Amino acid sequence: MVQTGIVKDDRYMDHVADSYHPESHQRLEVLYRMLQDSDMQGKFAEIEPRMASQEELELIHTPGYIQMVASTAGRTFTMLDPDTYACSKSYETAKLAVGGTLAAVDKVLKGELSNAFALIRPPGHHAESNRAMGFCLFNNVAIAAGYALKTHKVKKALIIDWDLHHGNGTQHSFYERADVLYFSTHQFPYYPGTGFVNEVGSGAGKGFTVNVPLSPGPGDGEYMIIFEEILEPIAREYKPDIVFVSAGFDIYYHDPLGGMQVTPEGFANLAKIVSEFAQETCHGKVVFVLEGGYHLEGLRSSVKEVLRTLRGEILAGEREGKIRKMMDHRLIAPIIKRVKEAQKPFWKNL
Ligand SMILES: [Zn+2]
Repeated sequence: MVQTGIVKDDRYMDHVADSYHPESHQRLEVLYRMLQDSDMQGKFAEIEPRMASQEELELIHTPGYIQMVASTAGRTFTMLDPDTYACSKSYETAKLAVGGTLAAVDKVLKGELSNAFALIRPPGHHAESNRAMGFCLFNNVAIAAGYALKTHKVKKALIIDWDLHHGNGTQHSFYERADVLYFSTHQFPYYPGTGFVNEVGSGAGKGFTVNVPLSPGPGDGEYMIIFEEILEPIAREYKPDIVFVSAGFDIYYHDPLGGMQVTPEGFANLAKIVSEFAQETCHGKVVFVLEGGYHLEGLRSSVKEVLRTLRGEILAGEREGKIRKMMDHRLIAPIIKRVKEAQKPFWKNL
C-alpha cells in the first residue's frame, strides 16, 4: 500500500514580509486548510520537521553565508537581495524548512513512507552557496540531495525542477558532479537569467545538467511531451536511487508571475509520469519540495491533485488522452530538438 507523507508546521508561516510580497504565509495557509477537506483528511502521514544542523546547511552553503543569515535573527527586517527578505524569525524558519525536507528524506529512504511532499517555505532553488536570491534563503532541495548521498549513502539523485523559474542555485550546487542530475523546465529569457540549453554541466558533471528553456505558452500537453521525450529516457538511463521534485506551481495558467498554462490536472499528470518512472528505477522513492506558486486558489487545487496522485489515486486514462489531444507540438518541437542535440552525446536513449 502506498503511504504518502507530508511535512507541515505552522512555524513555516513565521517568515513574513513587512509589506505585500507574493511569497507570503498565506500560501501555506491555503494548503494546510486544503488538507482538512473531507476527501483529504486523515489520508497522509504527518512528518515531524526538525531544525537542520550547521553541518547539514554546510552541505551546500558556506559558513560565512550561514553566519550572515543567522545574523538577521531577532532583527525586525533585513533585505538580503532586491526580492528576498528576512524578518526576525526567518533564519529559524529557513532552518526548519531544510530540516523538514531532510525528515521527509529519512522517512522515504528508510522505507517508512512510499513518498512525501514537504509543504514548506521559504522556498529554496535560487539560493546559491553564498547568496540569498529570489525569495530563497537556504536551498532545501539541494541540501536534501546532498544529505541523501552523504547520510543515506545513496549513489545517485535526480532533481526535477518544474518551477517557472530556473533553479540556478541547485544547478550550480551540482554542476561538476555526476551523482546528482539536475533537470529543469523554465520560462526563458526570464528571472534569474540562467538555464540555457548549452548549460549541460562541466568536468565530471558533463551531461548531468539538463535545461529546457521555454517561451511562454506551454500547458498540460506540452509539458507532458517534454517529460516523455526528454526527462523519461534520461531518467531511465540514469537510474536514480531517489527522485526530488522542486515543485513550483507558478507555471499554473493564472499565476501572476508566469506565462505558462498548466492546470491542476496537468500537474497531476506530471506527478504521475514522475511516480511511474520512479517506481521502475527506485521503488517510487520521490520527495516533492514546494518552491514557487503565487495564485492561491491555483496552488491549492494543484497541490491537492499532486497529493492525490502521490497516494495512488491515479488519473483516469481518459483524462490523460484529453491532455494529449490538446497538445500543440509547434510550441515545443524546436526546443525539444535543440535539447536533444545538446544532450545526445551523454544519453544513448535520447
Ligand atoms: Zn518560481
